[in-house]
Amino acid sequence: MMKQWKGKPDVIVAGAGFAGAVAAREMAEAGKQVLVLEKRNHIGGNMYEEENEAGIRIHVYGPHIFHTNDERVFRYIRQFGKWDTYEHRVKGKIREKEVPIPFNFTSLEALFPMEQAKKLETKLHRTFLGKTRVTVLELMEHTDQEIAELGQFVFDNVFKGYTAKQWGMPVLEVDRSVISRVPVVLGKDDRYFGDRYQLMPAEGYTKIFENLLQHKNIVCQTGVDVMDLLTLQPDGTMRFDGEVFDGIFIYTGMPDTLLQNCFGFLPYRSLRLEFETLQQNDFQSASVVNYPNSEDFTRITEFKKLTGQQKTGVTTILREYPMAFTANAGQEAYYPIENKQNRSLYEMYQKALQQWDNLYLCGRLAEYRYYNMDGAILRALELTQEILQKEKVCLAA
Ligand code: FAD
Ligand code: UDP
Repeated sequence: MMKQWKGKPDVIVAGAGFAGAVAAREMAEAGKQVLVLEKRNHIGGNMYEEENEAGIRIHVYGPHIFHTNDERVFRYIRQFGKWDTYEHRVKGKIREKEVPIPFNFTSLEALFPMEQAKKLETKLHRTFLGKTRVTVLELMEHTDQEIAELGQFVFDNVFKGYTAKQWGMPVLEVDRSVISRVPVVLGKDDRYFGDRYQLMPAEGYTKIFENLLQHKNIVCQTGVDVMDLLTLQPDGTMRFDGEVFDGIFIYTGMPDTLLQNCFGFLPYRSLRLEFETLQQNDFQSASVVNYPNSEDFTRITEFKKLTGQQKTGVTTILREYPMAFTANAGQEAYYPIENKQNRSLYEMYQKALQQWDNLYLCGRLAEYRYYNMDGAILRALELTQEILQKEKVCLAA
């Protein structure tokens, strides 16, 4: 590994996903010398995108669609590349039919006799006046028996099998907030997300990250695990590259590894990602098709339909097989597993890490939060503002 930085940086950022790259950029804009260390051999975190051998642009860590209601995040990301409007539509294979997911009135009409479907639609409109998206749990727990039965149908056919595969546990043990991410739509809007802004980067995510990290005050080195260079000393100080480091350390990896898993391993969920390139124009009817009730995988993505790439005679698809994450087994940690027990274990790490004043946890792995991209970006913007404000107050004192 060739060392690419000179002297001591003001800020070290571990990880070049959105949390790390945005934090690095903000600190650099504030005049700090920033060193970004990324343990993978590329930038972009889970958003990393590349062209495969067949010339198809793929999302190497699974399909990523940008969506947000946050005006600030939307304005922020637009500075770093061209984005196209893209409305994500997903189908689900249910009872041998392909129907829209989230489950909506089109799905209802495809799976129920038309007269019954229409009656239910009228009832749903009357009951949830003006609401266009509800959770399946709201339906299931409703006092109206027909609505509750419909809720149970959607739960059994859309959520139960998929959730059990995705999380490796019975659906009732999965945190309600996880299932509630995907609503039931009271109408025929067949978009997967209801957010105001839904976008895809015109030149791919990797380009956005190159632009984010392109700054005179940023040095970014890939293929470096920060844990090989930075140590947390028992007296609350830090050492970096053999010297005392009294700058700011922003960490976006798993917090338990910072403390050698002293309280036990923080559980994450992983995926086995199986790519296949086929010599045909296209494979499926939508960019993503979910398989809630059959197969061992949860969904198939067809990349050309996601990125809008025009290429004939060849297409690449991805099957996602959920699996347990085991540290040091060469897997990636993709999802925090939200529940009370894991949150309290996380909080033990968080508390113990407060001993290091200038150490900040940021992002999906580090904060053990099921962030979407916009959530990770917003958190990095807020955290850096907080750090810079704190510094100002200290200087003034
Ligand atoms: P990451 O992207 O995970 O980045 C963390 C980086 O830190 C990694 O590159 C890692 O290698 C590096 N790192 C860790 N430890 C160290 C270390 N010790 N030293 C150096 N580097 C280290 N969100 C959406 O908004 N829309 C979607 O459609 C969407 N689809 C998704 C699909 C899948 C399959 C998955 C898993 C996630 C999806 N997400 C989606 C969520 C999105 O990936 C996250 O919100 C985002 O990755 C969070 O960014 P981050 O920087 O916190 O984490
Ligand atoms: N889900 C489901 N069936 C589906 C889609 C989603 O049961 O067809 C549930 C499942 O528990 C999943 C959660 O909703 O983990 C969140 O789905 P989302 O699409 O947000 O998952 P991600 O893209 O983050 O993997």
